Amino acid sequence: MSKIGTSIETAASILRNDGLVGIPTETVYGLAGNGLNTHAVLKIFSAKKRPSFDPLILHSSKDKIFNWVSHVPEQAQLLADKFWPGPLTLVLPKANIVPFETTSGLDTVGVRVPRHSMTLELLSALDFPLAAPSANPFSYISPTTAQHVIDQLGHEVDYILDGGSCNVGIESTIVGFENDRPVIYRLGGLSVDDIEKVIGKVEVQINYTSNPKSPGMAKVHYAPKKPLLLVDDFSEIIDDANTAYILFNERIVVDEKRQFFLSQSENYFEAAAQLYALLRYLDNSDFLKIVVKRLPEVSLGKAINDRLYRAAIK
Ligand code: AMP
Ligand code: MG
Repeated sequence: MSKIGTSIETAASILRNDGLVGIPTETVYGLAGNGLNTHAVLKIFSAKKRPSFDPLILHSSKDKIFNWVSHVPEQAQLLADKFWPGPLTLVLPKANIVPFETTSGLDTVGVRVPRHSMTLELLSALDFPLAAPSANPFSYISPTTAQHVIDQLGHEVDYILDGGSCNVGIESTIVGFENDRPVIYRLGGLSVDDIEKVIGKVEVQINYTSNPKSPGMAKVHYAPKKPLLLVDDFSEIIDDANTAYILFNERIVVDEKRQFFLSQSENYFEAAAQLYALLRYLDNSDFLKIVVKRLPEVSLGKAINDRLYRAAIK
């Protein structure tokens, strides 16, 4: 059997037998297993070399997703109605059936309905949720194609559902609730502005250190193996022929072959969708150093800058 395919039935049967499947979503490819089964969950942690303190997000269809939580604040319901399926994760008190292995010992669980037709079909066919962190070794760049998954975790997965390139391209925005008051823990594919249009002003609590509330916010994450420098302008950069530049859309005065654009049309959504594939491409190229200019802090520019900051050498 080829490891990459498009059979929902094959994927479902592997998952029912506690195997691992790479699944497409609109954010990044996930490494999925039965999120209620500790054996499958532990396999996910070990395949990714993910520290056990970093909780997994559960994915399910819209009609089942709240089966895995025990309380839904009013504003969580509003966000769910408006943005699911989509790049939004809600952190809510967990249902008893969700094992602590999945939540890294927390009483809360992250839940999400991803927006990808193949994965939605798969989730409808399953009576359990899928725990699915990004399908890459811990702390490396997230995968946005099935081939990226094969390249790094090919030997760890039983099957990969090929759903093409991820069209959002960065991870979900995470919203938690403290005494029913919403707090954004991670910037992502759904902008803060869009969230605030539905529930009003929301506190953003982003941490650049590991912390028990959101360990995935670790300072070094999404990182290429090559040194990546994040700058506001290029005046202090010593240019040489081994340096590649990632730019939003503006041209600079170095060799054209060393300039890589996130979006020629200055579109933040396109930039997010290109980001990880471009980072991977440059990490596998002959360039020795990657220099990226920070994007304007609008729309998904904030989330992109967050990922670049974590990927950069400090
Ligand atoms: P990912 O690796 O993209 O699947 O996202 C997992 C991240 O979601 C974790 O690293 C945490 O930052 C966050 N997360 C998941 N579950 C929880 C939770 N119960 N409480 C707080 N943050 C969570
Ligand atoms: Mg990840």
